[in-house]
Amino acid sequence: INEIKNKHITVLGLGVTGLGIVRFLLSHGLTPKVVDSRLLPPGADWLKQHAGHLTTHFGDLDTAELNASDIIIISPGLSLATPAVASAIAAGVEVIGDVELFARLTNKPIVAVTGSNGKSTVVTLAYDVLKVAGYKVGLGGNIGTAVLDLLAKDYDVFVLELSSFQLDTTKSLQAISACVLNVSEDHLDRYASYQAYIKSKQSIYRNAQLAVVNKDDVATHTTIQPQYSFASENADYSLTTCDGEAYFTVQGKPFLAVNSLSVVGKHNQLNALAVMALLSPFTINAAQYKQAFNAFTGLAHRCQFVAEINGVKYFNDSKATNVGATIAAIESLADQAKQLVVIAGGDAKGADLTPLKAYLKQQVKALICFGKDAKALVALTDKGHLTDNMAAAVTLAKQLSESGDIVLLAPACASIDMYNNYMQRGDDFYQCVREEAR
Ligand code: ADP
Repeated sequence: INEIKNKHITVLGLGVTGLGIVRFLLSHGLTPKVVDSRLLPPGADWLKQHAGHLTTHFGDLDTAELNASDIIIISPGLSLATPAVASAIAAGVEVIGDVELFARLTNKPIVAVTGSNGKSTVVTLAYDVLKVAGYKVGLGGNIGTAVLDLLAKDYDVFVLELSSFQLDTTKSLQAISACVLNVSEDHLDRYASYQAYIKSKQSIYRNAQLAVVNKDDVATHTTIQPQYSFASENADYSLTTCDGEAYFTVQGKPFLAVNSLSVVGKHNQLNALAVMALLSPFTINAAQYKQAFNAFTGLAHRCQFVAEINGVKYFNDSKATNVGATIAAIESLADQAKQLVVIAGGDAKGADLTPLKAYLKQQVKALICFGKDAKALVALTDKGHLTDNMAAAVTLAKQLSESGDIVLLAPACASIDMYNNYMQRGDDFYQCVREEAR
């Protein structure tokens, strides 16, 4: 904190992260300037009420103003390539994120997780396991609590979910264990190339004491040592079958029955393996893993069961905001269904949608789409239907499905073209399914 005490600090971007930063700085007697490119950013009211004395600038970013700061603490919602931000960086202004500040201020162990899909599931499960094992754990980052708010409590260990945007503004992180779970195309609207996105994810390994890599995904591989791999086969943390029962293995030895894990799907088994590898520096026994794995029934909006109508089950996977996640959802539900009816669409963020094609061919009887990139999705298959909104999509899904089928909302796209966020989209699906059940 002393490092930045007498500096001109600008907090750029309000919202959850920005407010977390402002609160933290205020509590340390610092008075930042608060800037947001939106005229009425979320959190502006809170600011007015609780910190009316702070100077603010809402609306078009002012290059000269940003250049005059000594340090800019930027929200992950803003790209470093934004012209005014790029110009400040070029002018020598230090631009960091809240995670960077957090990393500089704590010396407690940090378990760090990134990846295109499964981050929230893995960090939540890791948090649960550590808690069962008796650790005082702080969970935050791209999930729940803003990281700086975690510093107020006396934790033994932090588990952080980090997005590529957060990693882009972090350089001092020294994780006790770090993992890139997987990489599939996402956020290409904010990166110059897929390679640049991969490079951003990979930066989590910098200075890590242990790297955890997905053996089957080369984009997660690193030369950092020591390292552990996870995968269905031939990895340090892996799966095997013994006397007809599936086990999680550590270095080839059965450790825990896979059926201890309540959440289903191969992707969740891989997530569990990643958790075990990430937590290897801690003292946790099989019984503690078993207890936590058993109690974890999954997060809302991730392949969440909603209702059964006329023998058709409805699942909400609104959090499937990219192609990789939608494929994982189709794969994990296909075994349980006669056939799948998939509802998709929204903003594809410039991603290549073609990897979906093969999955639509094999396991899906109808693809119902709405939103910005609906046409591009429908073009992937001869089983596509265009609709206007969620209610129409759910009504059509009901008509097209029959007993034993599953209707799955797995959009493969962001929700921002029609909703505030994926939660609101999932809630809309939930309401529409409820309506159909009447
Ligand atoms: P994130 O925080 O990275 O967005 P979540 O745990 O919230 O990840 O899961 C998002 C979606 O990604 C889920 O709805 C699920 O369909 C899918 N998913 C979860 N784990 C994996 C995985 N290991 N590989 C591929 N897809 C996954």
